[in-house]
Amino acid sequence: MTPTIAKIIWLGCVISWWLIRYPYERKVKKNAIAATRRDTQELILLGISLSGLGIIPIVYVFAGFGGFAERPFVPALAWAGLVPALGSLWLFWRTHKELGRNWSVSLEVRDKHELITSGVYRYVRHPMYSAFFLWAIAQFLLLPNWVAGISGIIGFGTLYAFRVGREEELMLEAFGDQYRAYMARTARIVPWVF
Ligand code: SAH
Repeated sequence: MTPTIAKIIWLGCVISWWLIRYPYERKVKKNAIAATRRDTQELILLGISLSGLGIIPIVYVFAGFGGFAERPFVPALAWAGLVPALGSLWLFWRTHKELGRNWSVSLEVRDKHELITSGVYRYVRHPMYSAFFLWAIAQFLLLPNWVAGISGIIGFGTLYAFRVGREEELMLEAFGDQYRAYMARTARIVPWVF
């Protein structure tokens, strides 16, 4: 493994991620929105997350930071990065498939929204966020630069920290006791732990 191969793998994963998401983005456009929390805070958080997981590492991969914050490339770390990278792609695919027409990029309840509690949603309430954290870990292991490596964890971590409670409030409003019972038997992002 060389730094260039690690960057190509990272880029291949970004493209695969987009290929998984795109069909759902088109599909959900047709479903009307019944309730939304897509406010300024949400847009800022989406921007922070996009910068950390997308813009900063893309600039690094294509243009470099001129040696700034470079760390020595350790092939074993980059190989290890393949595990969370592939794990997150698998989880992205499962979560998009299972949420289907109920998925939104932001906080929204759609017409005829269905609460999904099966498949990977049986173990955690936010498996798509687990996938993003796995992705951020892969980014850290694959890219040999402190800023481009850590930006994903900080960017997505910020979105997660400010969003997850609001999302659960929205789901409680929409599904009441059904969601309360679901919360009681599941963890948020790490099965049985957290
Ligand atoms: N937090 C979830 C979903 C992320 S997508 C995860 O990490 O997998 C965000 C949208 O999914 C929100 O607008 C919310 O309405 C919807 N959502 C969250 N959990 C859901 C569930 N269990 N069933 C159906 N929709 C859900």
